[in-house]
Amino acid sequence: MKEDRAQLKELIQNSDNIVFFGGAGVSTESGIPDFRSVDGLYNQEYDYPPETILSHSFFQRKPQEFYRFYKNKMICLSAKPNNAHKALARLEQLGKLKAVITQNIDGLHQMAGSKNVLELHGSVHRNYCQRCKKLYDADFILSAKEIPTCECGGRIKPDVVLYEEGLDQHIISEAVRYINQAQVLIIGGTSLNVYPAAGLIDYYKKDKLVLINKDATPMDQRANLLISGKIGEVLSEFT
Ligand code: NAD
Repeated sequence: MKEDRAQLKELIQNSDNIVFFGGAGVSTESGIPDFRSVDGLYNQEYDYPPETILSHSFFQRKPQEFYRFYKNKMICLSAKPNNAHKALARLEQLGKLKAVITQNIDGLHQMAGSKNVLELHGSVHRNYCQRCKKLYDADFILSAKEIPTCECGGRIKPDVVLYEEGLDQHIISEAVRYINQAQVLIIGGTSLNVYPAAGLIDYYKKDKLVLINKDATPMDQRANLLISGKIGEVLSEFT
């Protein structure tokens, strides 16, 4: 265990072209639940599984129920960056980390100070009217009575990629480019179950793939360095 952490430290010390790719597990230590851990949202009682509620067709058919779940479970404005977010921001400041590629929609990497953040699945902080495109912040969504509605009467939609929706092609190309050029790729806090995001790992061609996760993932055998643990604790040495 200690050896793994020493190896990670050495990899980071010797590289100035690191890319980080992460998911919901990066924010659990900030108090935001993930989907697939034992205490994640899949294991709580709802009328529908999160994947159904957070789908495009559900948003169209049952916006009131969508927003009830979304406001309660996906918007956590009191959450603060943890040691993982802070360490990654610090590594960027030091010129070592080139990009954070995240599946998260919580904005915590930016709050920690990271500048180059590729949000594959959008952000709860951006919301727009589907009719006139006017932008709204997350506070507006939270304080709206049921279905957030624009002053023009249009329905407001979060700028997050719902299930059944495609990813932004420009962001995907940028993510592929960074991963393809990275010397060290650190992946952490993701079950690597959600596609197409999980497929990004295929674009990494070198031999310094670090995987830091609490539970096993389907890609564990591809890691050159596999660290089982909490990502905030593991990266806290670099804060
Ligand atoms: P996931 O829930 O499928 O998997 C999370 C993984 O992180 C699990 O394998 C778990 O073992 C691991 N994990 C949890 N806490 C950890 C910690 N402290 N340290 C290390 N590992 C930890 O998440 P996913 O793969 O990101 O896919 C879920 C989808 O839902 C993504 O699109 C994600 O963006 C979205 N989501 C986002 C948030 C958020 O923005 N914070 C929260 C929940 C879900």
